[in-house]
Amino acid sequence: MSVKVKIGDITIGGGERIAVQSMSVFKPSDTDKAIKEALVLREAGCDILRYSVNDEKDAKSFRFIKEKVGIPLVADIHFDYRLALAAIDGGADKIRINPGNIGGENKVAEVAAALKSSGIPVRVGSNTGSIDKEFSDKYGRNEISLAESALKNVAVLEKHGVHNIVVSVKASDAPLTIKAYRYISSRTEYPLHVGVTEAGTEYMGIIKNAVAAGALFADGIGDTLRVSLSADPLREVKAARAIIAAAGLDDNFADVVACPTCGRCEWDCMAFADKVSRYVANIKKPLKIAVMGCAVNGPGEAKDADIGIAGGKDCCVIFVKGEIKKKIAKEDAEREFLGEIDRCIR
Ligand code: SF4
Repeated sequence: MSVKVKIGDITIGGGERIAVQSMSVFKPSDTDKAIKEALVLREAGCDILRYSVNDEKDAKSFRFIKEKVGIPLVADIHFDYRLALAAIDGGADKIRINPGNIGGENKVAEVAAALKSSGIPVRVGSNTGSIDKEFSDKYGRNEISLAESALKNVAVLEKHGVHNIVVSVKASDAPLTIKAYRYISSRTEYPLHVGVTEAGTEYMGIIKNAVAAGALFADGIGDTLRVSLSADPLREVKAARAIIAAAGLDDNFADVVACPTCGRCEWDCMAFADKVSRYVANIKKPLKIAVMGCAVNGPGEAKDADIGIAGGKDCCVIFVKGEIKKKIAKEDAEREFLGEIDRCIR
């Protein structure tokens, strides 16, 4: 099991719940837009939000944004150690750096000193675009070179007395991501930030991340998750939440089970299931809801559901734990069933 690391008010690692991370599409210095976006992401379940830091103005914006949104913020810095120092000073709750590109050993030492005195953690790691030549020459471009590159970055920080570290080893495909995290989890106890990087557009990107994160979570690997998508960060957060829930690691959500329908179905079950899913999207309580295609088999097939509905030719039935509770006219189905859901979560 990984060790615990505190990022702002959130603790990750050591068996804590998996935190969802995303990345803003705005510069932190664009504060109005950054705050508006962060509030929407927070509402959707984003636990940690990362920003690219391009200049001094960006670095100084963290404290102000944090005051308004309240979730931990991460500063992502490349090439200029002074921006790392400014972001730490500016209230970032964590920084993401590559010790190899921020200006040499003495600059790393300065950042390490600032990290130690502020107490905030740092994420280091590697991705397939940043594999250290030393390791790609030795092992080729694979999970070993990917993980060893990340461990080299870890060693640089440890040499300067930094031990408040989060690690990532990212690839843009699921099989390599899985192998790299399995490898590195056997070599370090630092918490692991997992996800498939540059996973692509929404549909395939979510599938790649679900495959990788699902396999890793089943192995007990992974402490934070970012579903990296070429899409609105809100889609990333929702997908990450759904992946964590589907992996059985978050009970506080409304799970809508629905049948695929067959020749027995005589109502628009799919559209109704879609409506119910949207209605319960923000419920943060354990509830299993079934939407089934026919009253003949539906209640029995969805016996595990806390509450369910099954449609027929002229009417629908609402059932609880497989037992039919009431029969309703089709035109009243939406109002009646959503009302029953409201009563369940009250
Ligand atoms: S619940 Fe009814 S409609 Fe749905 S798959 Fe089963 S038999 Fe078919």
